[in-house]
Amino acid sequence: MKLKPLKQWICDSCGELIKKPEDGWWEYLTDTKTNLVSGFRIVHYGDPCYYDGQALRRKNKIVGDMHLDHMLTSGAFGHMLHWLELSKAKQIDEDIEITEFTEIMRRLYLPYWEEARQYWEQSFKDGFHDKCGFSENDLLGIIAEYGK
Ligand SMILES: [Zn+2]
Repeated sequence: MKLKPLKQWICDSCGELIKKPEDGWWEYLTDTKTNLVSGFRIVHYGDPCYYDGQALRRKNKIVGDMHLDHMLTSGAFGHMLHWLELSKAKQIDEDIEITEFTEIMRRLYLPYWEEARQYWEQSFKDGFHDKCGFSENDLLGIIAEYGK
């Protein structure tokens, strides 16, 4: 799927295009038994695409969320890093799942990542990259080769 960098995303719930930041919503889950924070998602603003908070509460998970357009600000970027630091330094109880966290950070702040990630594994298997290149040129190269 063709995407405008840092302006459009693919919804983790319905798989359709999120056309602009105002149409998006950011959410995650906190496990009340283990304090693990995971399940970071970008979805459409509106009920059908949200996590089912009631059903998840029965599984000891609480939904956290925020407007997607707010998540794209420099203030939110700083806050995300601060949150991670506090978690890893064990200054808060929340234990952030690091692989999911780094992926949501790429999706929110790295130009062309959201489009290139659709082809990341296939292009890696094809020897197109070594999973270390995240420059705009690297990602645009993947999109040019695999995007349709
Ligand atoms: Zn959706």
